[in-house]
Amino acid sequence: MAVTELTQGGNFFSQRGEPEGIGASQGYLHYMGKGLLLDAGTGFKKIKGHPIQHVHVPAKLTGHRVDLIICSHQHLDHAGYLPRTAALYGEATVVMPSQCFRILKVMLPDALKISLEEHDKALMLGYKPPVVPFTEEELKAFFALEGTPRLILIDETCELTDLPNLEGWRFEFHSSGHTVGAVSTRITAPDGWTNYWTADIASHNQEICSGVLVPAGWEKPDFMITEATYGGTPIKEPRSETWKRFRAVVNQTHRRGGQVLCPAFAGNRLSNVVDESTRLGKEFGFVTIADGMAVKGEVGERIIDIELGTEKVARLVKEGRLVLINQINKPAGMAQRQAVLDGDYGPVVIVSSSATMENGWSSFWAKHLLPERKNSVILTGYVFPNSVAEEALKKGGNIVMEHFSKKWNKIIKQAVNCACDVYSFSLSAHDYQQGLIQRIVVARPKILVVHHTSDQAYTAYVEALKVEFGRLGLELPRIMRAGHEVVIEL
Ligand SMILES: [Zn+2]
Repeated sequence: MAVTELTQGGNFFSQRGEPEGIGASQGYLHYMGKGLLLDAGTGFKKIKGHPIQHVHVPAKLTGHRVDLIICSHQHLDHAGYLPRTAALYGEATVVMPSQCFRILKVMLPDALKISLEEHDKALMLGYKPPVVPFTEEELKAFFALEGTPRLILIDETCELTDLPNLEGWRFEFHSSGHTVGAVSTRITAPDGWTNYWTADIASHNQEICSGVLVPAGWEKPDFMITEATYGGTPIKEPRSETWKRFRAVVNQTHRRGGQVLCPAFAGNRLSNVVDESTRLGKEFGFVTIADGMAVKGEVGERIIDIELGTEKVARLVKEGRLVLINQINKPAGMAQRQAVLDGDYGPVVIVSSSATMENGWSSFWAKHLLPERKNSVILTGYVFPNSVAEEALKKGGNIVMEHFSKKWNKIIKQAVNCACDVYSFSLSAHDYQQGLIQRIVVARPKILVVHHTSDQAYTAYVEALKVEFGRLGLELPRIMRAGHEVVIEL
């Protein structure tokens, strides 16, 4: 049954973003005649051999009201559709963490630039252009909401009551442990019904943010929505062990005169790696180089400043342990990169987006470092299928790197010989299976809805939940998979 077929009066939840697996995230909760949108993300999919990236966005809700839009955090699969969503539902208040809003000021203009480039590229190459999730006008209008009553920027932990049109409702926010600023939300309706929406979560500590299991007092919700990205993946080793292996690879590479490249997501991952790498650098005498979107912008407004703290970044730079590649003055930035390649900084660990080595400055570093045996590449997160990162990890040898040339109006292919060592370390910002299960054991919801997961991971997660609840002699919640636009009646 489609969302639109339901009457206004019914209470229901529907996952509207993801047609399958992990992609655009958006939940719609309709309760006591009010409508709440949980996240507004975009989904990206690369099809092998197809040069255009497919983009998915949630369809517009018709016939249903939206009183409130809550954005849990800045990752594009949760926030990449926010400017359009805010424009589509002009009557709704928008609530989001202030740190996430600051990071979006860097990420959304970049996302817009990439989506317009992909659009042009598709037209020039004769393909159907991908969806452009928002226009420049919508982006400007969204940022202009700052300081108006329509946008409420929160700092966890906090509580909001009696929002416009939502008299008698209570919204509590707590760090989700996923990344700096990211929140989980507890919603209490005027009739006392409660909903615990985890959003993306981690119970293990990361270098830049502490893990969270269940915030105190959030137990026994009537309804709980959890992500289960790694529902099928048990944790293999504590993070401290991963960093030990990281240290061993870095030391070994530096001993043989090589350099280390860590391709990383600009948000969260880069700061985590820089934090640990600069600590090791102090111990072993090497410099960490940070490049790409995370170091773009004015001091204090850069992603790395927001995540690590402006003062800490300034101190690391001053002490010579961290070099930020200049993103504003392009020739100065290129001179710094050349100096790194010439060995002027001595042994280095380079941390740069993108994580896939397909876009951004990590593809530049990859072209220079991959061909030499003495170097090493350490992948620092999810390895996307069919990406350059996956090819380097799985097969090595000749890898074809592609980029679209506007000047020549075609895709330029460049063969790069991957002769160096390639490692993949899981430094996930998402909970593994054990944390995802432990949270449910502690929270004990009546109904559990699972989303942001693959079919395989969902099945493995539910099996593991059954085993753990059986072992503890506890009654299992009613568990449901949040299928795309499937209505779950409450
Ligand atoms: Zn996330």
